[in-house]
Amino acid sequence: MATGDAKVIAVTKYQTDEDVELAYETGIRDFGENRVDMMLERQKQFEGREITWHLIGNLQRRKVREIIDTIDYFHALDSVKLAQEIEKRATKKVKCFIEVNISREDSKHGIFEEDLEQFASELQGLEKVEIVGIMTMAPYDAEHDELIEIFTKAEQLRLKLKKIYNTANQLSAGMSRDFAEAVECGSTMVRIGSALFV
Ligand SMILES: *Cc1c(COP(=O)(O)O)cnc(C)c1O
Repeated sequence: MATGDAKVIAVTKYQTDEDVELAYETGIRDFGENRVDMMLERQKQFEGREITWHLIGNLQRRKVREIIDTIDYFHALDSVKLAQEIEKRATKKVKCFIEVNISREDSKHGIFEEDLEQFASELQGLEKVEIVGIMTMAPYDAEHDELIEIFTKAEQLRLKLKKIYNTANQLSAGMSRDFAEAVECGSTMVRIGSALFV
């Protein structure tokens, strides 16, 4: 199986600061949290470290102001209004993934694939929102074939996006139980929580 050059983002949402410290000591520099409050606490705890911070979960518009300049990557952009709020509040560029809900589960955030081009075109002109690629999550119980189908679709969507944004070079896909399939399909960033901290 191809392993590509996928970067591992250590997802620390269920971990203590001690666990995060250990991960840092092993050389991990990319950390992800899915909640704004948790992210802010973690950043306070690890202030001054050389860390790339990834906000991987949903971001409410009213929380943009307090978090946006503290993060490097935002993985869950799925509304134009949110993008406009980021544009208004950020004082530097933020690398953003457009989240696509390929499996169309009600429980998931993200735009539908058929809306990608329209959505992407509505973001044009925003200077703080740097579109770096596509993010997706597979259903928790998906088996191998379905995972391959979903992640292949995600990579196709990224290529479509790249025609609009030449900066769309990343695919944020794959978690503890499905990163192998994601990497096989071209993922460049895997978001790993439980498998990393056992
Ligand atoms: C929790 C989380 C992960 C990591 O999940 P694991 O199954 O623990 O690897 C990845 N992405 C997002 C968006 C998450 O919320």
